[in-house]
Amino acid sequence: MQPLIDNARTFGQRPEEFARLAEGQSPDVLFITCSDSRVVPALITGARPGELFELRTAGNIVPPYATTAPAGETATIEYAVQVLGVKHVVVCGHSHCGAVGAVVRHEDLTAVPAVRDWLAHAADEPECTDPSDPTVAEAVQNHVLTQLLRLRSYPCIEQRIEAGELQLHGWYYEVHTGTVHEYRAESDTFKAL
Ligand SMILES: [Zn+2]
Repeated sequence: MQPLIDNARTFGQRPEEFARLAEGQSPDVLFITCSDSRVVPALITGARPGELFELRTAGNIVPPYATTAPAGETATIEYAVQVLGVKHVVVCGHSHCGAVGAVVRHEDLTAVPAVRDWLAHAADEPECTDPSDPTVAEAVQNHVLTQLLRLRSYPCIEQRIEAGELQLHGWYYEVHTGTVHEYRAESDTFKAL
């Protein structure tokens, strides 16, 4: 923790770089990914402050759209699309994902009931021919496609896609190589960017 504190202490010594951020934000991209510490969206994309609006959830899950109970994830997505008017939404899954692995391996999550309930409530079990694969690549990629479908069930998103104002992207990031694969609809596969 201490190195992080030391960096934070000196971080604000470049005020000229950040002064314009006081005027507001208009990011083009909502980036949805897992909370996993090995996935660092700004590092992967080179984004500077103000360029990525982020939603991070365990397993980069997009919960089903509902307004019956407050949900931070739904609120974040709606705000990005309706208020900020982002033009792209990226759902980025990653290799070795603990959440997706737990789902496809039917791991016992009784010690972490909040995680168990989140995954049970929000995740569908993705198709996976080899759950013992440590990367769970196939499962994560199928899981990303499910989240893209979920996004399309959000009224604000479907509307903007129809209007040609919004594009969805499915990414798969390898934590051990740094490679990003993108879903290509024409071949129905993930290919390196
Ligand atoms: Zn993960």
